This record gives sequence, structure tokens and C-alpha cells, in this order.
Amino acid sequence: MSTLLVTHPACLDHIVPQGHPERPDRMRAIERALEDEKFVTLAREQAPMLALETVALCHPLEYVEAIREASPREGMAQIDGDTTMSPGSFEAALRGAGGAVLAVDEVIAKKASNAFVATRPPGHHAEKTRSMGFCFFNNAAIAARYAQKKHGLSRVALVDFDVHHGNGSQDIFWDDKTVLYCSTHEMPLYPGSGARNERGEHNNIVNAPLQSGDGGVQFRAAMENAVLPRVAEFKPDLIVISAGFDAHMRDPLASLNLTEDDYVWITRRLMEIADGCAGGRVVSVLEGGYDLEGLARSAAAHVTTLMRG
Ligand SMILES: [Zn+2]
Repeated sequence: MSTLLVTHPACLDHIVPQGHPERPDRMRAIERALEDEKFVTLAREQAPMLALETVALCHPLEYVEAIREASPREGMAQIDGDTTMSPGSFEAALRGAGGAVLAVDEVIAKKASNAFVATRPPGHHAEKTRSMGFCFFNNAAIAARYAQKKHGLSRVALVDFDVHHGNGSQDIFWDDKTVLYCSTHEMPLYPGSGARNERGEHNNIVNAPLQSGDGGVQFRAAMENAVLPRVAEFKPDLIVISAGFDAHMRDPLASLNLTEDDYVWITRRLMEIADGCAGGRVVSVLEGGYDLEGLARSAAAHVTTLMRG
């Protein structure tokens, strides 16, 4: 079995204002890096558009409809301070969620050993009823809940190493004891949530904030001390990763100092836990990462590690 890579060219059609960091070139940079011959054994599939009823696993249908209605026929519509829609955005968002769900199907069917979903817009800031922070639908959260509802998995761990706190994922799973949501993130930083004492209704939320200037040593310690033991103890049937690469030292939106080696390390550690309790099942979904070189190199290191599984 090989690692599955899920993308779709329509994700380039989510157009953003000039100078916006969450731009189509992010996907192009990752795709270029993954064209290298060492990725020739990747299975590659195109992300389908997710049915609206499946998006509704995490977002009420009225919210999904409101996003569709906000889509402009031309130009751009402002959704929140830093989130806009172009005519292609709704389809791109549905393909991001659809790609994550396809990855779950393929990994559970053992057609792929694990998967990386390289789509945009990202998802982890999208709350149940609120789009924000470049996100409309919470792709990783939808993947987790879909794995439970469609495939009958009992427990899913969602591990988020994006430099920003996944307030949307925390909101969606706050009172859901069947999903463990764990996040390392820089604090203080957008969106402001993610303090250590935010633990969820069932102690099912684990926040391990880092400080500006922290690097691999502090990141690995936070994972080793606060996150990984909780994931292992939870014995998930699937690990979903919210894989943002904006904690990279080159990233312009934050001030952590991770390198590709740190992404290799955390990927490996999560795969080891998945090997122990989840039949190796790991579905990784792209979130942030705004320096094109840092993003491409980090995503390539992440995928290379997934392929070694
Ligand atoms: Zn981020």
C-alpha cells in the first residue's frame, strides 16, 4: 500500500485579494515539490466535492447555505476581516472537505496506508456556525466525524500542529468525548483561544501553547509531555492531523522556529501511535503555511515520512 495524495486544481480558483497570504501559489509550491521523482510511488487522486449533507456533520445546513449564498458571481465578497470569497471559493471549499473524506474512505478501505490532503482553503478556524481566519468548512473535523458516522469508528484523535490554535475544531468537539482534539500553537497569537485550561466538557481538549521564539526543543517537549501521552492513552481508531506548516522558522505570520526535521519527528511519532492502536491509519489535512519555500519543504518532509510507513 502506498501513501495517498489528494489535490484538485479547482482549489487554485479560490482567489484572494492581492497580497493575501493564503494564496493559490501555496498549492502550486507543494505540488511542485511533490513532483520530485522520490514521490513517484504516491497514489494520487482528485478531491471530489463533498455533498452538503456530509458537510452538515460539523456545520448546520443553514450555515452551509449561507456560505453558498455569500458566493459572488464575480469579484470578491468579504466574509470576515481576513476571509473573502471569489466565484470559485465555494467549490474549492467543498473539494477540500471532500478530499479529506475521500482520504478517510481510502485509508479505512486499506487502499492507502495513510494520506495527505493538499487543498485550500484551510479549515481549522471554521467553527460550527462561523467562517473565519481563511476557513469556511472544517475539513479535518468533517473527516473525523465522517470516519465515525460512515465507518463506525469509535474514537478519533485530531492533532493540530498549525502555529495557530484550531478554535473551530475545539468548538466543534468541545462536548464530544469520542474525539480528542490536541493543539500546539503560538500564544498569544490569532485567534486568541487555546489556553491550557480550555479542556472541553469531557477533558477531551488538550491545548499546549508555545511562546514566540520557541523552536523544535520546546515544540517536541510540548508534544512529548502534553499531547502524545494523551493521544496514546485515548487509543484512537484513526489519527487526523491538522497539518499547518506556519510554525516553520521562515513563516511570516508567526514567530516559532520549527524546521523540516521537527515535522518529520512529529509525523513519525503520530504514525507510531497509529501503528499501535489504529492499524496505522493517519489522514493528514493541510492547514496553514505561508512562506512558499518553508511550506513546500515541510510538506515534502511530512509526506516523505508518511511514505516510509
Ligand atoms: Zn495557521
